[in-house]
Amino acid sequence: MKKKFYITAPIYYPNDVPHLGHAYTTIAADVLARWHKLLGKEVFFLTGTDEHGKKIAKAAEKTGKTPKQFTDSLIPEFKDAWKKLGIQYDRFIRTTDKDHEKVVQHVLEKVNKKGEIYKGEYSGLYCTDCEAYYTEKDAPDFSCPVHKKPLENLKEESYFFKLSKYQNFLLDLYKKNPDFISPESKRKEIINRVKEGLKDLSITRTSFDWGVPFPLDKKHYVYVWFDALLNYISGIGYLENKKMFEKFWPADVHIIGKDIIWFHAVYWPAMLKSAGIELPKKIFAHGWWTVLNEKMGKSAGNAVKIDKLIGYAGADSARYFLLRAAPFGDDGDFSEKELINRHNNELANKLGNLVSRVSALIEKYGLEKTEIKNLKIEKTKKTIEKHFEKFEFDKVLNEIFSFTDRCNEFIQNKKPWETKDKKVLYELANAIKDFTILLSPFMPETCEKISKTFNFKIDLKEINKPLKVGKIKKSEILFRKI
Ligand SMILES: [Zn+2]
Repeated sequence: MKKKFYITAPIYYPNDVPHLGHAYTTIAADVLARWHKLLGKEVFFLTGTDEHGKKIAKAAEKTGKTPKQFTDSLIPEFKDAWKKLGIQYDRFIRTTDKDHEKVVQHVLEKVNKKGEIYKGEYSGLYCTDCEAYYTEKDAPDFSCPVHKKPLENLKEESYFFKLSKYQNFLLDLYKKNPDFISPESKRKEIINRVKEGLKDLSITRTSFDWGVPFPLDKKHYVYVWFDALLNYISGIGYLENKKMFEKFWPADVHIIGKDIIWFHAVYWPAMLKSAGIELPKKIFAHGWWTVLNEKMGKSAGNAVKIDKLIGYAGADSARYFLLRAAPFGDDGDFSEKELINRHNNELANKLGNLVSRVSALIEKYGLEKTEIKNLKIEKTKKTIEKHFEKFEFDKVLNEIFSFTDRCNEFIQNKKPWETKDKKVLYELANAIKDFTILLSPFMPETCEKISKTFNFKIDLKEINKPLKVGKIKKSEILFRKI
């Protein structure tokens, strides 16, 4: 039986146009999904939108639409963005999907049967924009740390989940599974915070009705996390498709931004444990992007939208840049200049040039099969596999491009344009096949073009097979210099 790989990108808040921040997480998840497909696994890749809550209801009101009409109008923008970026997800889940809402209610009933839900009163410092309460510790000046607006003092009847009883369970989980949270710095932060103790979690509200009805009390609606996080199980058919659920759950990795790590590393495992559902294997929190060293966001007005991001040098260059420019767990800084530099120097000069030169020479002089002596990829491949396991995309790309450097040196030294040596050209063509296969998760469109030029299939097994000698014509220009 094929191995499975289940990966999730977050569900995004649709009341924000998709931008570089969303693209980064989703591209990373897409690259991993494609890599595991290449490894021969059956892959499921889930993403979508988180559509409930006061903020959406308010925004909808302003446009004169119902919340559902409003979110319906926003979804195409996300789907379109992912299409343009070459994202191949298996399901786009919306928290307004009926099967999801059923799962939320079902899980809440399970948790309730376990005696872990009770009615109480919630009061706290609340930010409407974040739809979150803040403690005095997080907001010592009583203003939202994200929005810098004064917080409201809000008090309301609410149901609670007994999160506090999961403190030891969670600490034990992190201890026994040191890879559960990555990167390591985040793991330490979470452990320290959980050690300070956990408060029970308020899980319902009466102050809005744009949400999943709380099954235990008609006045209440499910509040944020018990709704949003459960997308990861409803997305693969927790209630509606047992067979699929059993095949793919537990998730192999949830890819998220570091701003939502607490909810994923603390609430989520506790919720699942309470409901008697297996826990995911891993949570990976990546860093944030700044734009020219300024925090990116809607309010800052500097968010790089998808069309702009692709507009510089195409989708593949954007995908390449985002995963190449910063280690995946760290913060990165975006600048148009740097993207264009990398596009010109690394993609056009090194990769594009090599492909175009070699294909042109083969068109002219032909190929002759020979044993590969100089440009062997095995070692590179092994190193890449290890880097992929650790989500080190930048290092994977570094390895691949060191290999293309070797190809470029080889062609410089052997001068096949003078010698017309068909064996040298064969060795180069075979090397292009090998690194293209490894590069394909990052730049699917470009690699598809190369594979057509050199007549090979994008398949890991093809790496061990010598390139078939066929007719090769000069490649089209892969990367136009800017
Ligand atoms: Zn806020």
